[in-house]
Amino acid sequence: FAVHLVSFFFSKLQEDPTKKVDRFLYSMCLNDGQLSDISARFQAEMKKGLSIESNAAAAVKMLPAHVRSTPDGTEKGQFLALDLGGSKFKVLQVKVREGTGIRKGEVEMEEQTYPVPRELLSGRGTELFDHVSKCLKDFLHEKNISLEKKHPLAFTFSFPCEQSSLNKALFLNWSKHYRARGLQGKDMIQALREAIDRTGVLALVNDTVATMMTCGFDDQHCEVGLIIGTGTNACYMEEMRHVDLVEGDEGRMCVNTEWGAFGDDGALKDYITEFDRDVDAASSNPGRQIFEKMVGGMYLGELVRLVVLKMAKQGLLFDGCVSDALRTKGRITTANVAAMEEYKNGLKNTRDILMDLDLTPSPDDCIAVQHVSTIVSFRSSNLVAAGLAAILTRIQQNRNLRTLRITVGVDGTVYKTHPQYPKRLHKVVRRLVPDCHVRFLLSDSGSSKGAALVAAVAQRLASQRQK
Ligand code: BGC
Ligand code: MG
Repeated sequence: FAVHLVSFFFSKLQEDPTKKVDRFLYSMCLNDGQLSDISARFQAEMKKGLSIESNAAAAVKMLPAHVRSTPDGTEKGQFLALDLGGSKFKVLQVKVREGTGIRKGEVEMEEQTYPVPRELLSGRGTELFDHVSKCLKDFLHEKNISLEKKHPLAFTFSFPCEQSSLNKALFLNWSKHYRARGLQGKDMIQALREAIDRTGVLALVNDTVATMMTCGFDDQHCEVGLIIGTGTNACYMEEMRHVDLVEGDEGRMCVNTEWGAFGDDGALKDYITEFDRDVDAASSNPGRQIFEKMVGGMYLGELVRLVVLKMAKQGLLFDGCVSDALRTKGRITTANVAAMEEYKNGLKNTRDILMDLDLTPSPDDCIAVQHVSTIVSFRSSNLVAAGLAAILTRIQQNRNLRTLRITVGVDGTVYKTHPQYPKRLHKVVRRLVPDCHVRFLLSDSGSSKGAALVAAVAQRLASQRQK
C-alpha cells in the first residue's frame, strides 16, 4: 500500500506541469521576506543618491527635478508638448483650464503619434532632434496652428538628465531602444532650440514627473509618479533639506529616482538569475539598468523566451524539441506575455503563440509556459512593489507620520495592458507597507500631458511672485 501511495504521489507530481516550472524558476519567486530585503536595499540606495558625499558614486541617481509643487487646479494655459522616449513618440497640444470654486480644472489634449525610424535611434543625436522638429512642424500644419506666433513648448524626455532648473537639462545616458550618438553632457533644451526655432522651450521633465503632475491635477495626495512601460522608473516629493544637490532647506522638491539603475553596482547580485544575465549581456547597455531589465516591458518577453528555451533544451517542454523561432531574440514579446495571462483565453493564446513559434505544444506544455509567463511578470510587479514600498516608507519617515495617505500616479504600457499586473502590484504594496493608505491612479497619457502642467505650474508660481 505504501508503495502505491508513493507512486500515486509521484505520478501526481509529474502530472501538475506548474510544479516543475516552480522548481525550475524558484529563484524568480520572491517571498515577502525577500521583497522587504530588496526594499531595504533600495532605501539605502536612495540615501546614497541624495547625499552630496556619495552621489557621484551612487547607482541610483536621485535627480532633482526642480518641480516644487504639484498642481492646485488653478493653473491655465495652452502649450505644445513633445513626448520622447516612451513606447511612442508624440506631439501634442495641451490646454489647461483652471477650475473655479468646487469645479476642478481640466486638461484637454490633441495628440499625434509619429514613428521614429530605426536608424535614428542609433544615428547622430542632431538627426534625432531634426526629426523631432520635422514632426512638430507637421503637427502645427495639420492642426492649423499659426507659425507666426511663438509657442510655449514643454518636453517630456524619458531619460535621465541632470537639471539645474526646469529649462536646463544635461543629458546623462540612454536606455531602452535609444543610443543616438553625441548628446552626452549636452543640454537637451538647447538641442531642442537649435532644431526648432519658433518655440520657446519652457520645461523639460521626466515621464515619471509628468505622470505625477497629471494625476496631481485631479488628486492633491498624488506625490509619487510611477512608470511601468518599456522601461521603469519612479519619482516622489522629497524634503528639500534632504536634497543636498539643490540649495535651500524649505519645502519639497520632486526627485526622479532613476530606479532602473538599481543593481548596477551589484546591490541585487544575489537576486539576479542566469536569465537576467543573458538578457543583460545581449542588450545595448550591458551592466546598466539592471533593475529595469528585470521589470520593464522591453525585457519581459525575452526573459520568458530564454526560460522556455532552456526548459525545452533540458527536455522539460515540447518533448525536448526546439525551433529556430524559439532560438531567435525578441520572438516572444511583452504583448505575448499579457495575452498568455488573459483571464479566459490565456491558455488558448499560449497555444497559438507557441504554434506561431513552430512548436507543437501538448496541453501540459501550454499550462507550463503560461506559468513561466506568470512567474516572470509576477516577479516584475513584486520588484516594483518593493521599490515603491521603500519610497512610501521614506515619505512616511520624512513626515513623521504614523499612517500615510498617498496617491501614486501610474502610466506605462505594461501596467495598462497586462491583465493582472495592477491588481498584483497593489496587493503586494499594501502587504509590504500596511500602515500606508495607498491609492493608485492610472493616468492615461499622463506622461504626455504632464509636461504642460509643469509649465503651467511654473507660470502660476512666477505670476504669484510678481503680485
Ligand atoms: C529611463 C527613465 C524613464 C523610464 C521610464 C528609463 O529607461 O532611464 O528616465 O523614466 O525609462 O520611461
Ligand atoms: Mg537642500
